Amino acid sequence: MDAQPEPPLDDRCFAVPRSPHWPAVRAAHLKEHPTCAACGTTANLEVHHLKPFHLFPELELDPANLMTLCESQSHNDHLLFGHCLSWSTFNPHAVDDSARYLDRFHAVRGKGPRTMEEG
Ligand SMILES: [Zn+2]
Ligand SMILES: [Zn+2]
Repeated sequence: MDAQPEPPLDDRCFAVPRSPHWPAVRAAHLKEHPTCAACGTTANLEVHHLKPFHLFPELELDPANLMTLCESQSHNDHLLFGHCLSWSTFNPHAVDDSARYLDRFHAVRGKGPRTMEEG
């Protein structure tokens, strides 16, 4: 099994079978955390595993291992904050990084009609 198959959309499972309980756990998490941790949107949400379950299968259903991040076409916070732009890696600081970004995002928006520019 050298060649990685195209990752499926429901988080990237790396050919690891999902727990039959995952859909319920995922739905419960989204009910409790219905906004993206990085930008606050409620659209295109995905549940991210802080520690990927193909490496830590025992954490697949652990609520402490989950966070909500969005997957918009324009800004994929799941890929950016959760996986450092590569599905084969993961960001051990995803919670801190997205929280900091969310703070900045709201600070910039709170100052009035400025667009959010990097730099
Ligand atoms: Zn987002
Ligand atoms: Zn993820």
